[in-house]
Amino acid sequence: MHRSIAIISALIVLNLHQSLNAQLTGYWQQNVDYDISVTLNDVNHTLTGNITMLYTNNSPDELTFIWMHLWPNAYKDNQTAFAKQKVLTGSTDFYFAKDDERGYIDNLEFSVNGTVVPLTYDAENPDIAKITLFKPIASGETVSITTPFRVQIPKCFSRMGRVGQQYQMTQWYPKPAVYDKKGWHPIPYLDQGEFYSEFGNFKVQITLPENYIVGASGDLKTAAEFDKLNALADKTAATTLTETSLDFPPSSTTTKTLQYELKNSHDFAWFADKRFHVMRSSVVLPESERTVLTYVYFTNQHKEEWIKACDYVNRSVLFYSENVGEYPWNIAQAVDGTLEVESAGGMEYPTITVLGGDYDAESLDNVVTHEVGHNWFYGIIGSNEREHPWMDEGINSYYENRYMDAYYNRGNALGLPTFILDKLGVDTNNVDNVQYHMYQTMARQNKAQAINLHSTDYTMINYGVGVYLQSAYIMKYLEDNLGTDEFDRIMRKYYKTYQFKHVYPEDMKALFEAETGENFAWFFDMIINDALGPDYKISKFQKGKTAMAVDITNKSEIPASFSVSLMEGDSVLRTDWFRGFTGSQTLYFNYKPEWNVTHLKIDAQRKMPESERENNTIQTAGIFKTIEPLQVKFIVLGVDNPDRTTVTVSPILGWNENNKFMLGLGLWNAAMPTPAIDFVAAPMYAFGTSELVGQGSIGYNLYPKKGFINRLRIAESVSSYSYGTYQLLTTGETTTIFPQYLKLQSKAEIDFRKKVLSNKLSHSISYRNVFIRENDAFFSLDDNGDFVESYANEYMVNEVAYYLKSPTTLFPQFLKVVGEMGDDYTKLSLTYNTKIHYPGMTKGIDVRLFAGAFLGEAGDDKHNFTLAGNNGYYDDLYDEIYLGRNTSDRLLANQISLSDGFFKVPVYNYGLNSDNMLAAGNFEFAIPKVPLIGLFADVAYVAPGTAAENLDAFQYDAGVMIRLPKNIFAIYFPLVMSANLADAFDPETTTYSDKISFMLSLNTLNIFEIIRKLEF
Ligand SMILES: [Zn+2]
Repeated sequence: MHRSIAIISALIVLNLHQSLNAQLTGYWQQNVDYDISVTLNDVNHTLTGNITMLYTNNSPDELTFIWMHLWPNAYKDNQTAFAKQKVLTGSTDFYFAKDDERGYIDNLEFSVNGTVVPLTYDAENPDIAKITLFKPIASGETVSITTPFRVQIPKCFSRMGRVGQQYQMTQWYPKPAVYDKKGWHPIPYLDQGEFYSEFGNFKVQITLPENYIVGASGDLKTAAEFDKLNALADKTAATTLTETSLDFPPSSTTTKTLQYELKNSHDFAWFADKRFHVMRSSVVLPESERTVLTYVYFTNQHKEEWIKACDYVNRSVLFYSENVGEYPWNIAQAVDGTLEVESAGGMEYPTITVLGGDYDAESLDNVVTHEVGHNWFYGIIGSNEREHPWMDEGINSYYENRYMDAYYNRGNALGLPTFILDKLGVDTNNVDNVQYHMYQTMARQNKAQAINLHSTDYTMINYGVGVYLQSAYIMKYLEDNLGTDEFDRIMRKYYKTYQFKHVYPEDMKALFEAETGENFAWFFDMIINDALGPDYKISKFQKGKTAMAVDITNKSEIPASFSVSLMEGDSVLRTDWFRGFTGSQTLYFNYKPEWNVTHLKIDAQRKMPESERENNTIQTAGIFKTIEPLQVKFIVLGVDNPDRTTVTVSPILGWNENNKFMLGLGLWNAAMPTPAIDFVAAPMYAFGTSELVGQGSIGYNLYPKKGFINRLRIAESVSSYSYGTYQLLTTGETTTIFPQYLKLQSKAEIDFRKKVLSNKLSHSISYRNVFIRENDAFFSLDDNGDFVESYANEYMVNEVAYYLKSPTTLFPQFLKVVGEMGDDYTKLSLTYNTKIHYPGMTKGIDVRLFAGAFLGEAGDDKHNFTLAGNNGYYDDLYDEIYLGRNTSDRLLANQISLSDGFFKVPVYNYGLNSDNMLAAGNFEFAIPKVPLIGLFADVAYVAPGTAAENLDAFQYDAGVMIRLPKNIFAIYFPLVMSANLADAFDPETTTYSDKISFMLSLNTLNIFEIIRKLEF
């Protein structure tokens, strides 16, 4: 019954296809019809079979060779483009994979029309090869290309592969590269970067053990299997799934052969698992009233969510059919599988999609819809995804947002978790807001990229922010320009014109221009190729009785259309859209006398992809016409609202051993995107010392758009806390003193611009002047020992530093060179960090090398190089946060910082720090298969200085450590140490616990710093 419907509807689709072809004059595309027959061996994990391709050369050119994609070879070794990209994006799983986990395709012998032809592998890419034709294929001619093949199925490292005996067969058969109006497109398989293939019809025959359940592209033509699948689905629907086992049952000794057919497709994928549950449903398409069957396949792992997944497939098939164009195929399916593609939730194939990971109901619907939507923008409209990823991911994300908006009243497409967005103060009920803030943050920091770049040109974050979010945002802008009805009409025309065809941005532009009669160069040539967008500026407000006038200047070269709104506070009184222009124009607005217009604003609804928005508002009254009104918010981290100078107020709590509990008020302005001037103020009252303590900073951030400087920050900061607790025993009583320090710092930082944004290597320099005042540093006592007077200690330090960062996956390197000039000393230090992998493993040894020397006099001993990581006393610039600085509390006193010799034994005796020179090597050994626990070993040379007391120059320690990632927290248990270190512990008065030290680097958790530097 279902199958007969399928055949009739396929015929209708074919006819429709042909009649539309005529509309594109001069357009041509190659056609490849496939007949593939394979057998799965689930013991050796191989696929063996034969393929026949009927290749029709519809181009005007004669072809003397054909580029072939042999993409299973992407998993062959570490030299493939896929393997290299995996390393580049930070994943070492494939790089360190064992040989029997890798995959390849072999046993190939290509024949053309029955004659064996030579196969030449591309010198760079083993997954691309060329077959040379003895007789050229003339324009209009069809040849038959055949080959046997065997695929060794890899473990799942990306899209294709096996997870136990779950088989995901994608990009698995030999396939010609596309030959189009721009020539050949031989491309290697990649993780970041999708596909481009020729259309044609598929016949696929799969033989595998009887008890496998298969979800595949296209129509299942094996009647017995079709009935079996439906019976299974009916059983799943009728019973409650209580099993939780994920074990694979033994495979049947008998096999079955399944036949599939799919017309007008550029790919074919299939998924086989013995454990699959099946659910089925169907939808009737609104226009043709054709029935589309829907199936989902899932294991016990996600059964609660997936049991409803057919509803999502149904609803998304209908949504896209109504808004874009009718679904052309007879079946739509989703599979609960595995994906090892960086941050990918799902992956689309024609009529079938695979999702990896855990989802709640809403996010499952979201991802299913996105992937089902790709049937339109990828499956049916076959754009070149590798070169123009926005044309499938961006446009599809735009429709996905519309779906999420329609059914959930929110369009948090592929975005951050809602609770984080809420914390950031982003209105998640408005998808445009999420995309707007992400883009603004990237653009402000010179980290945004245009949406029309090649897949491999994007940084990892921008492949998400740019290709998905920003492209969807820009499509929405196009919709707002045209109005939804007109936009939908043109997009439906786009769908009809380019279904089952290849399309480029210039074709889309031509279609928009033909449909509207307007020039769309500003959008399709400029907006999509510009990372920063247009920049309109509003100035010179004039007011008449019924009309107002303002001057608008476009500071960019992009004549993008824009809107101007008359505002009363936050309310929009009237919005007008204007055709874009370059240069300046005066615009006029009528207004009603009863309107109280407070300001005029460009793009009040934030529709336009404009990164510079500070010049978008003009007040209609008052002296400071361009200053933004002040807004005070309560406890949100704060995304910047360009309409307001936002100040966030929040109660804050603190604690340290000297000051005890502290309570105060935090005040700061927005964090995202980094404003030009940022400030943080955190005054607190310390209950232990009854003092006012706290910290604050004000910074100026400049991100020049050109030149060698990418970021300049100049900041002033102040902090003041107690740095100790001293008991003075005087004649009558005990006096407790809480000496307090004051730190004033002026700092300039420069990050140099990278030539290529996706390049990992970066350089920066910084200069700072630090003034320290330590109150109560010295005392004078009278003859009775009574406290008379105290004196402060003051010093000033200038510091210049250079940083080189190369955070590559296999050989990360970091270099820091610091020159420090105090009142009476100058010292120089160099720190180098790297990681050495254990052979064939992701884990390895973290290496830190340090060398420091005084040039001449050394000054006060607190500036000395310490063998152990600095404690509160030797942290002379008060850079670190100590739970108990200079405390006598034995536990807290053993806090060390990641600095100087970084020995883990907290001993600071003279001779174990140096006023001359110190060199150290720190080694942290990860333990394979054991998380968090590691071994450490340190060696050092301490040059004898004036303070040395006949100690050895060579020192060492080693032991066991527990550490959290990113050097945030670690505890060190020394087991061996050099004699001088051991001697520092008197067995009479100390215990082993005195030798245990810990590191807690709270500075690395500074959220403002993290947002300012967004390093991806
Ligand atoms: Zn996608």
